Amino acid sequence: MINTRRTFLSFAAAAVVAKAAEPQPTIPAYNTLSDAEEVALGRQLAAATEKDLPVLQIGALDSYVNSLVAELGRRSRRPNLRYAAKVINTVDINAVSLPGGYMYVFRGLLESVRNESELVGVLAHEVGHIAGRHSANTIMLNFKARQVYEIVRKNLALDNKVMSQVVEMLGGAAVVLASLRYGREQEFEADLLGFYNMIRAGWDADGLTSFFRRTDLSKRGEANWLDDALATHPSSQERIQRIQAEAARLRMPTDLRTNSYSFQTMKLGLRLLPAPVRPRAKR
Ligand SMILES: [Zn+2]
Repeated sequence: MINTRRTFLSFAAAAVVAKAAEPQPTIPAYNTLSDAEEVALGRQLAAATEKDLPVLQIGALDSYVNSLVAELGRRSRRPNLRYAAKVINTVDINAVSLPGGYMYVFRGLLESVRNESELVGVLAHEVGHIAGRHSANTIMLNFKARQVYEIVRKNLALDNKVMSQVVEMLGGAAVVLASLRYGREQEFEADLLGFYNMIRAGWDADGLTSFFRRTDLSKRGEANWLDDALATHPSSQERIQRIQAEAARLRMPTDLRTNSYSFQTMKLGLRLLPAPVRPRAKR
């Protein structure tokens, strides 16, 4: 279905954004993966990861979340990838991404967000990590240090079992994923890439900063929100300041959207589900 108002807004937002300084992620010399190889890396890590996660398979919920993710992906710096998310049935207020476009959205996040632009802000941040190749870079650097880079790369495109065997040798998918520690600059870059994705796609980017403000758990000595198992996050305050500084450089469209009928339907649907089966995801 073509939403003409949305299309118009997206073009208008794109025209404004074109003048500003959206980050252009660079690919480090050590990461020689083609897109196809990175997708294979993500697909195999996803298969291993999902063995340990309670994936919630509800058609309407999956299609709603994936419609947002696909729209953000199309507006991202890597529009050629297929971005796909699965919902995990735990109370964690979190979302994580793997190489190649694979994402997990935890039910606690869906319960916690107050409007669609808050949810889109978190998803856009994760799309930013994928567009910036942050997890692919980190994983391949780790493989390089363990002298398995070339064997993994050569076999990724063949889609054989070598990659899974290497992952098992290194301690399993959980250990490989635990090695994903995004640096501060990667977090800032994912925020800004996400910020631009949001406004290009016609959503109000205030949702990103309002969610940071509401969930600044670090002040209470708890883990920060958002892929917190994986990241050494800068403080929410620093992230808000960087996003606001970028917003101040732009002539922002005034009619970006914050909500949708589909979002309200998703929230109603969540209330009808049984409680999450596990209190928290394994870390
Ligand atoms: Zn992050």
